[in-house]
Amino acid sequence: MSILMQTYKLTIKGRVQGVGFRPFIYRLAKEFNLYGTISNNSNGVEIYINSNNIDDFIDLIQTKAPPLSQIDDIKYNKIDYIDFQDFQIIQTLESGDIKVNIPPDISICQDCQKELFDPINRRYGYPFITCTNCGVRYSIIYDLPYDRDNTSMKKFKMCKACKNEYNNPLDRRYHAQPIGCFDCGAKLKLIGRTILTPTIKNIVKLIKNGDILAIKGVGGYHLICDATNSKAILKLRERKNRPTKPFAIMVSDIDMAHHLAYINPQEEKILTSKERPIVLLKAKNIDSNIAPNISKIGLFLPYTPLHLLILNELNRPIVATSANITDEPIATTTTDIKKLSNIYDYLVDNNRDIVNGCDDSVVMVVQDRTIFIRRARGYTPISIKLPFQLSQNILAVGANQKNSVAIGFDNQVIISPYIGDLDGIASVEYFKQSIENLKRIYKFQPQLVAYDKHPNYESSKYAKTLSIDKKEVQHHYAHILGVMGENSITQKVLGVAFDGTGYGDDGNLWGGEFLISDYKGYNRVAHFKYFRLLGGTKAIKEPRRVALSLLFDIFGDEVLGLQNPTTLAFKPNELKSQYIIWKNGLNSPLSSSMGRIFDGVASLLDISQVVSFEGESGIYMEEYYDYNIKDSYPFKIEDREIDISLMIIEILKEQDKTISISKFFNTIVEIIYTIYQKYNLPLVLSGGVFQNRVLLELILDKIPTAITPTQIPPNDGGVALGQILAY
Ligand code: ZN
Ligand code: ZN
Ligand code: FE
Repeated sequence: MSILMQTYKLTIKGRVQGVGFRPFIYRLAKEFNLYGTISNNSNGVEIYINSNNIDDFIDLIQTKAPPLSQIDDIKYNKIDYIDFQDFQIIQTLESGDIKVNIPPDISICQDCQKELFDPINRRYGYPFITCTNCGVRYSIIYDLPYDRDNTSMKKFKMCKACKNEYNNPLDRRYHAQPIGCFDCGAKLKLIGRTILTPTIKNIVKLIKNGDILAIKGVGGYHLICDATNSKAILKLRERKNRPTKPFAIMVSDIDMAHHLAYINPQEEKILTSKERPIVLLKAKNIDSNIAPNISKIGLFLPYTPLHLLILNELNRPIVATSANITDEPIATTTTDIKKLSNIYDYLVDNNRDIVNGCDDSVVMVVQDRTIFIRRARGYTPISIKLPFQLSQNILAVGANQKNSVAIGFDNQVIISPYIGDLDGIASVEYFKQSIENLKRIYKFQPQLVAYDKHPNYESSKYAKTLSIDKKEVQHHYAHILGVMGENSITQKVLGVAFDGTGYGDDGNLWGGEFLISDYKGYNRVAHFKYFRLLGGTKAIKEPRRVALSLLFDIFGDEVLGLQNPTTLAFKPNELKSQYIIWKNGLNSPLSSSMGRIFDGVASLLDISQVVSFEGESGIYMEEYYDYNIKDSYPFKIEDREIDISLMIIEILKEQDKTISISKFFNTIVEIIYTIYQKYNLPLVLSGGVFQNRVLLELILDKIPTAITPTQIPPNDGGVALGQILAY
């Protein structure tokens, strides 16, 4: 077989840097005795290769690419013959636009795991073992290109053994930036009231002893304790001032996960994936203090060698919750975490700095669809390809709760990880820092800033200080556009945006909206009839205020003589003053929010009168839903207004919570279905209310073609993408 060797130039785009792509090509070339070069460039990698069968070579690249890589595009052309004498990896200096994707933080790989538990390996038990195929990336990057000097590994000078691995193209650790070992890498510290050496045995002893520990992970600190020890869990609840909000649980392995929860194959796949998010599951055997009154549980598997070592030794589940001060972002520095020293007994710290904070991701599976509740570690930063080109560089600052920001250029949008609620000064600082990080890493200069209409959002206030062009985007329109954009939908849709509250065009607080939308604008074709939020923001924490308002709308002052769970939740004089507030419209903005309607119904049925975390009443209501009940309540739609007063009257008469809650869910689905049939357009669902598993399940049952968020969360974390896409 004598076919002429020819020289080809290949350009590969996608996530091909920092993921072992060049050594992979190097090994491939060596294996097949091919000569040429490979180098990184600002778009990806560039290969020159002498081959007599380029198609086979490209096939091999596509089928055998390294686990963390993602090939978006391969282009090649024949060029004048170059007489290469071997195959070489060429180092290049980066310049120009950065179009490569930053690799996310990935859980420990099988090879590293094997070495971690191999007594003769030089990294046996090393809590920071890593290689090209796993470990920290995004969280340690200061700048691109992704080189050790641009990460927080810069301060660790590699020992000889590590350096040899780093420089050997045939080694799994070739150019793996975060590598280290006992001699040269990051080290554990154990700080507490007694001085203990920072060994896994000692850490495990403390956990077994019922102590609360703060542990530094990938993108921040966790607070942890033994999940089988009720006393420890209650201690954590009390110290964290978190009475009922569910805690996530980290388990040793998938077997332990199966012991604690019902897990279907798709959920198992996500649990064991390299991203290792928290997956919301149906609980089996769980201490009742972990998620009081809820049959769901958030589980995840160890994703760092440190977590793996601890859980392997402990062989029990642990509570693992993000460490942050109320209204502040996740703690990422020793200074941050020390502010929480009243909560933990011991601190398991280390000297590798976290550059970019990143919370745990949270997902759930509903009818085979993976829904992100929080998109962060393992998945971010994400890059979304748009169905069209943007004419400008756009910065979107997102909403005020569950904030994420985004930058858009060409036909691409990069979304930051979950930043959190912008309620405190520290959070706003973190938000600004996140924008600066994106700008620096992607060498991005915004020409236009997009922000929410709400005048009091911290994100909007910040946007208005920038001296570039601006666009204001209505909150719910942004919710719908985000889902359209990520699903590459270019036609008109019927968008259903159900959430807490967002600022409407008329200055009222919207949140139960039907918007016929495209990228040019929207038409609000239906919404829930306005009701008053008595006491403004107080009504968000107190479902009883919403219910009372709904009752005043129907019965007026007769409510003062009614006896039901809502009126009984107030003292008689409080009732009277609430009536005056309602009648005069004092500090009680009008709202059409679906989230608040859930709250109102929860109060009428005495499910919850005052809540301690967002979405609480909806989660409790899920528990009562009975799939055998098919009836629903009457409702009216007149002149674009959806009137649910008939339903409220019926709910008041119903004693059985299972019946009334089931009928309530069915009614909401009926309302969506009625409007959907009227317009016969693709249905797009967005907004935090669609995190309600029962509601989403029921709608997807009835309208299987409904389009849901796939990469962005349905909650306000998805708003920034939509803001970029608006007109
Ligand atoms: Zn590895
Ligand atoms: Zn070393
Ligand atoms: Fe929202």
